[in-house]
Amino acid sequence: MPLPDGVIYMDHAATTPVDPVVLDAMLPYFTERFGNPSSVYRLGRQSLDALETAHETVARVLGCRPVEIVFTGGGSEADNLAIKGIAYAKRRRGNHIITTAIEHHAVLHTCEQLEREGYRVTYLPVDVSGLVQPDDVAAAINDETALVTMMYANNEVGTIQPIAEIGRICRERRVPFHTDAVQAGGLLDLDVNTLGVDLLSLSAHKFYGPKGVGVLYVRQGTRIQPQILGGSQERNRRAGTENVPGAVGAAIALEQAQSTRGQESARLTALRDRLIDAIVRIPDTQLTGDRERRLANNASFAFAGVEGESLLLNLDLIGVAASSGSACTTGSVEPSHVLTAMGISESAARGHLRLTLGHSTTDADVDFVLEHLPAIVEKLRALSTRPV
Ligand SMILES: *Cc1c(COP(=O)(O)O)cnc(C)c1O
Repeated sequence: MPLPDGVIYMDHAATTPVDPVVLDAMLPYFTERFGNPSSVYRLGRQSLDALETAHETVARVLGCRPVEIVFTGGGSEADNLAIKGIAYAKRRRGNHIITTAIEHHAVLHTCEQLEREGYRVTYLPVDVSGLVQPDDVAAAINDETALVTMMYANNEVGTIQPIAEIGRICRERRVPFHTDAVQAGGLLDLDVNTLGVDLLSLSAHKFYGPKGVGVLYVRQGTRIQPQILGGSQERNRRAGTENVPGAVGAAIALEQAQSTRGQESARLTALRDRLIDAIVRIPDTQLTGDRERRLANNASFAFAGVEGESLLLNLDLIGVAASSGSACTTGSVEPSHVLTAMGISESAARGHLRLTLGHSTTDADVDFVLEHLPAIVEKLRALSTRPV
């Protein structure tokens, strides 16, 4: 997949380019196969067939049934539908939700909105590597608990949660369990029965599919209240004429990602480990996230005495696209809620850098970053007035 000239793209956790095979599969559904899947004539039935095939493909990857798959307008919408869908459906039986302090904002802001509506939310803590303790989940569940929602892998630091273990606890206590698997989509096993989840969110643009297309798995028998009302599409769980090209693209992208997962994970792990082993040798630098239980494509660091934003701008000047959990809001650098929850000092958290690798990443890209990053960090520290 060619990238624009001179760009070293190390931000695959933010988004990925659409794979050419995926694009080719989508294209006919924008033009000659444009029918509405709800229409009775042949053109409509063709679209319905494509949509059903997309459900079947995703279901095969997840080890579930096609009717348990709902296509949405992205990962954020899938998270919203899972959490509000359960919370509103179970309102009379319990109003308590359990989540973690390090979720994506699509989950956190949804939980905060539910709190304003009278729900109670427990935000479980994480340890210094970003891991949740399963015992904490068990201890937090009570008779009012309507849902446990916990991400599979963290988007900032790459830490992978013990989802299957927590799934067993939730099943024993008969509490529905949702996981935001958006970062895991292309890299980890998604079998919903192995994981023991009742709901699972994915986003196609994180695994070489189109933007604005998500998937929500909903275990049969789990009732959710739809959040977009209108037609009876997606078995009454998400109204609106279906994004047929998007669903076709998402399904093929997921199938491709999962069929090459083992090989690609091994390749990315080797590249990632070269980055980690060299970058942690830069003075006053720490790896963020767990050293072992982390996504194959995530190398992320906290550099004391440097601002993440400045690092990104300096990397951009040499053609490297990366990101940081620390966001610059109104002139001051705010450390991310993830790093803060992990107990990383504010000074170190301000200097967060996330390098996320993918299909385009080569050994030469890693060499280039390793050649230039230490000098950039040194220069920024020399310019900075803040003590390390
Ligand atoms: C990207 C991301 C989302 C949001 O997905 P969109 O398709 O961009 O709405 C949700 N959760 C996690 C963990 C993500 O990384």
